[in-house]
Amino acid sequence: MSTLDSLPILPDDLQGASLVVPSSASSSTTPAGNPVSSPPAPFPDDSDARRASREKDAESGQKPTSPAQPAGSWPGRRGPNKRDSQSPTSRSTEPGKSRDVVRETELPLAAFELESSSAESGTGEASQTELFETNPPPWELAVEDDVLLASIVFSRSPHGPYDYRIPDSLREELKPGMRVGVPLGHRKKPTPGWCVAVKEGKAAHRKLRDVAECIDESPLCDASLVRLVMWMAHYYQVPAGQVFDTLIPSSVRSAAGTKQTTYFTPAKEVTDTVIDKLPAKQQAVMRHLVSANRSMTSAELAVAASCTEDPIRRLKKKGLIVPEVRREMHSGIRILAQTNDGEADRTHELTEQQTAALERINVAVDSGRGRTLLLHGVTGSGKTEVYIRAIEHVVSQAGSAIVMVPEISLTPQTRGRFESRFPSVAVLHSQMSPSERHFHWQRIRRGEVQVVIGPRSAVFAPLPNLGLIVLDEEHDTSFKQDSQPRYHARKVAHARAMSLGIPLLLGSATPSMEAWHATQSGHAELISMPDRVAGRPMPDVQLVDLRVRDDRAGGGAISRPLKQAVDETLREKGQAILLLNRRGFATTIQCPACGHVVACPDCDMPLTHHRDGGKAMCHYCDYTIGTPPWCPACRFDGIRYGGLGTQKLEVEAKAKFPDAKIARMDGDTMKRPGSHQRVLSEFRSGEIDILLGTQMIAKGLDFPNVLLVGVINADSALHFPDFRAAERTFQLVTQVAGRTGRGDRGGRVIVQTFTPEHPAIQAASRHDYFKFVEEEMVNRRKFNYPPLGSVARIIIRGPVEEKTEDVADSILARLESARDLLKSEVRILGPAPPPIVRLRGKYRFHLLLQATDSAVVGEVIRRALADFKTDPKEEIEYLIDIDPVNLL
Ligand SMILES: [Zn+2]
Ligand SMILES: [Zn+2]
Repeated sequence: MSTLDSLPILPDDLQGASLVVPSSASSSTTPAGNPVSSPPAPFPDDSDARRASREKDAESGQKPTSPAQPAGSWPGRRGPNKRDSQSPTSRSTEPGKSRDVVRETELPLAAFELESSSAESGTGEASQTELFETNPPPWELAVEDDVLLASIVFSRSPHGPYDYRIPDSLREELKPGMRVGVPLGHRKKPTPGWCVAVKEGKAAHRKLRDVAECIDESPLCDASLVRLVMWMAHYYQVPAGQVFDTLIPSSVRSAAGTKQTTYFTPAKEVTDTVIDKLPAKQQAVMRHLVSANRSMTSAELAVAASCTEDPIRRLKKKGLIVPEVRREMHSGIRILAQTNDGEADRTHELTEQQTAALERINVAVDSGRGRTLLLHGVTGSGKTEVYIRAIEHVVSQAGSAIVMVPEISLTPQTRGRFESRFPSVAVLHSQMSPSERHFHWQRIRRGEVQVVIGPRSAVFAPLPNLGLIVLDEEHDTSFKQDSQPRYHARKVAHARAMSLGIPLLLGSATPSMEAWHATQSGHAELISMPDRVAGRPMPDVQLVDLRVRDDRAGGGAISRPLKQAVDETLREKGQAILLLNRRGFATTIQCPACGHVVACPDCDMPLTHHRDGGKAMCHYCDYTIGTPPWCPACRFDGIRYGGLGTQKLEVEAKAKFPDAKIARMDGDTMKRPGSHQRVLSEFRSGEIDILLGTQMIAKGLDFPNVLLVGVINADSALHFPDFRAAERTFQLVTQVAGRTGRGDRGGRVIVQTFTPEHPAIQAASRHDYFKFVEEEMVNRRKFNYPPLGSVARIIIRGPVEEKTEDVADSILARLESARDLLKSEVRILGPAPPPIVRLRGKYRFHLLLQATDSAVVGEVIRRALADFKTDPKEEIEYLIDIDPVNLL
């Protein structure tokens, strides 16, 4: 066990990931154990569980923590410090530390409740603050605790939260995490919203409307997921209703693949004498229903009593039979296990490193505490096997696990391995139909699933008894959602794991700077697997300097050394992988006479020429035209296709290796479901000699006969205007290089580059992760970029350039005054046009905020934009992206 475990501070990247919702309202926190001032339990029926978890935490000495904010960074906020010193449940395990420490299990919704009560009454906050400060005797409070209230949030504006009275008829039924219909404004029909808290309230001086109906029979989110929603809403600055919509798939909300059926049972007061007095047909129906001793549908009854539906309707009208509507899943959804792509089931004997790694993970699982582990294992070190064994350990204790992977359709092997080792696996992927998705979601919620495998959204899987969350390839950018809410699965997984007191296991051969920094600063435990399984060596990497004319082959993309290497590989009956991270044929279409570049009218980005179908496409918005045969500007008819895409590479490879069978894997060829799997199984069986494609082929593939990997242009991502450009390049080259040398025949890698001296490429060529992070950390430190500091981005977009810039300027002014008001050190850059100035017809400006503390950045934005509104007529929007991954 690591001594780092007891450190209460979160990783810098993960700061703020405890489920604390700081706000001025957190002043409600008072000494625990005081019956008067304790906030009403947000979940009356959950209090036992919360008490249990509190006790568990107390036993283990674990202490969930708040973001490390300087005390007093929020004017008017008195919560955490005061609380820490007073609350008997929160103790400091590190006497020397003066950090804020907050009990996450209690604070967030307490804080939230007060916000919500003040939302409607406007007086609630002041009076409640007073109330808590003066600690009135219990009898005074009892008089006012006369109603049950529900806090409701909405997906669409106004987002709430607003308080509603719970009518007696719904008292038993209504729970947090459920959807309800409530009156809103002057709308005639009830508006659907999400219940986030149920609490005793004080209706005396407030006019509250009643909840009209419960939409769900039972909550779609349990208490811990509701807390996760509230944390995400706060951290990512998104309305909670929208977070709920992300958390609960639309197929679940619309109950896809189900139908409503009405079942009848006899009313309680029905006796034989009552039945005897009925007309004959109705008598027959009643007798069948009573003797059946179960509820029956109208159709069943009609058949049983050989009558029409009319007598049934009459009985219902008289109240002699009671209808009950149930929603049932259509039968006929099959659970399709992935057919294996041909990988032989190997029996896996663990290496020493794997055994040691597994032991440490199992210790973490058994500790019953929230902690983060980073499994840094080189490509081919057998990380998947370690995950499987760790999950077997969790499952043996009746627990369950989530495994997140980037793009599961690209890694049928991983999927197959899990499915062959666990009896009940749910694989979530993008090609599922809504009813399949709903079906799996219900299975997961009922506890019928041991392992959920999926992309970033799997972090929300409603598994009961969750015991471990695994994030494989944690460095992958697909874990960040690029639409609202712009969450990162690593951060959300961390928040969920810490609140449940379970381990989060991150895995990668090329850990993100964030994860690495967390291990160095004591916020995560590092587990290393520096060697490949079976004592296989890392492949040799040869750099080809494309500036040397001799090595370039007459205008082609495949250099002379690479050509030779492919020839040798083919002679040895080996296979080759060629990576080029641009799809299409030519990446620019330019007129040599006037210089005109054919560009997207909506994005100002050059169109890419695709040879199949002669199309010119915008890769940012999918705008497509027929490729112009002559220059649209000057009619010159010798237009040139410049730049290199995978289609052009395929043509060249076919010409250079005429006897080889070549397949291309990119976004264009892999559109149809199952196409990845088909190509990959052909590659495994040896029908394909050369597999070429985009970064799709860099991930996770494990084919022992791949003797050569060629990287066509290692620099393609290096010169992006993004502080993570070097990191991405290092990761991509290292990952694709790792696809070779996985069999007994070894392997080698050829990397073509114009900048062989670049540190990222040098480090990748030597498989030297440590050298890379050491040098890269120096760069990040210069500007306090993540993981050393925190970044947020605000994008302002609109149809008219000047007006959009005006809005950007006024947002800047608000940010600056919020920063000054909070006396916080936040660097604000911009507004400036981002690298993509115009996207889908909208002009764009962006602002970057930087500080050492993510909580401070968030608070400045919250302050600045809380009441900021743009003129709807001008159609200008602004987006807040906390911890952005994409800066284009
Ligand atoms: Zn021209
Ligand atoms: Zn476009």
